[in-house]
Amino acid sequence: MAHSPVIQQNFKSPGPNPRKRVPYAHWAILFASVALFGVIFFLISDIAVATRANSLVTQNKPASFQQVSLHDKINLPLEIPSYDETAVDNSFEIPEVNWKSVKVLKGDTLATVFSKLQLNPKELHKIVRLGNSTAKLKRLIPGEELKFLIVDNELRELIYIINNEQSLHVIKSGDSYTASDVQLELNKRIAYAAGKIESSLFIAAQEAGIPGSMTMELANIFGWDIDFVLDVKTGDRFSLIYEEYFLDGKKVRNGDILAAEFVNKGNVYRAVRYVDSNGRAEYYTPEGKSMRKRFLRTPVDFTRISSKFGERFHPVLNRMRQHNGVDYAAPAGTPIKAAGDGKITFVGKKGGYGNTVMIQHAGRYSTVYAHMKNYKRNLRNGDVVKQGDIIGYVGSSGLATGPHLHYEFRINGIHRNPLTVNLPDDTPITAKYRTDFQLNTQGYLTLLDTLGRTSVALSSSAMTDRRL
Ligand SMILES: [Zn+2]
Repeated sequence: MAHSPVIQQNFKSPGPNPRKRVPYAHWAILFASVALFGVIFFLISDIAVATRANSLVTQNKPASFQQVSLHDKINLPLEIPSYDETAVDNSFEIPEVNWKSVKVLKGDTLATVFSKLQLNPKELHKIVRLGNSTAKLKRLIPGEELKFLIVDNELRELIYIINNEQSLHVIKSGDSYTASDVQLELNKRIAYAAGKIESSLFIAAQEAGIPGSMTMELANIFGWDIDFVLDVKTGDRFSLIYEEYFLDGKKVRNGDILAAEFVNKGNVYRAVRYVDSNGRAEYYTPEGKSMRKRFLRTPVDFTRISSKFGERFHPVLNRMRQHNGVDYAAPAGTPIKAAGDGKITFVGKKGGYGNTVMIQHAGRYSTVYAHMKNYKRNLRNGDVVKQGDIIGYVGSSGLATGPHLHYEFRINGIHRNPLTVNLPDDTPITAKYRTDFQLNTQGYLTLLDTLGRTSVALSSSAMTDRRL
């Protein structure tokens, strides 16, 4: 407020005698403009330098560790001095900071690395003496990386990169060291891909940039509805939305499939992943039905179906006879899995069936497994089994011409064709999660719509793989 009268006076001053004042005013404005321009130019160029330096620092830092202290220490020598005069203080000493990165060579131990860096062996002993927390440092593997922060020949910090996501961090505190495991925070990105099958799912997926492990996962998700060995045909299409994990802009690994679509012989199958509040992850149809069935379609990895359900000529009995199951030919010793959760009701020899296991499942269902070579060790009547548990091994006991599994599926004791029977779905999404499920999956379903249209337009198994 004290200055305002002066300013007013200055503003008023050109008023009384405008003609005389004009030339001076021009000079003043010109001078002020040049000065102002100079200041602005200085600021802009320095900001540009500062920004570039920062980006360099970001790229060169050892890894995106969460510790702020480390980041600051590395940045120090590269930081641009502030324009603030109080900050440009010569009494402020920039320490002699020196990060050294060491690749572990064959034959290297922590001791040899310390000696190469001319570090005091006493510091090595202090670190090794920390026990369990630094035990990993005793087993260095060639190719691994260690980073040392050395100030005045003294080890201040040591970082041991264990893998892409984990490192051991040793920091000097006072006269000793403390060690801690640092879990790096990976950046999660959503990616998507779509493809059309020409020869095989694996080739089409590979061309769409999907690794083999994820293709297996895709086949597992839809494996309840689609037989990927027998049913997949040229022209079938797939789209998937999945997670990718990045560290410092570099892809580290893939995450889970979040949603997927498979179009098999014109039938559209869709699955979305949902994780409930207990952390249980499961794939569901968009309507919230489980993608799984309560029973495996085939309880064994077979080479061929050697006999179907129905009337047939029995090769051993040499006469026509109703075949109440399906025979899956497989090498002797191939594991046989429980088709669904249930309780063992029979383990033993059963006439022409040979070594047989029977399982009673919830409700009206039971399954029979015959001609086994042997049972799973210690399998007993009354045992509770989960779907997929191994119960025995393929053989040719009883009336059998060669090693195969004779498998029966019964509803209320009546034999049904295991290849075609309508298998009941596994538990659908729980009512209390339904709203959350819809909220969480709607976006993925919309994206699947788009991807589906894209995959139709693909002329071959050409890839579309873009980041979201
Ligand atoms: Zn049979």
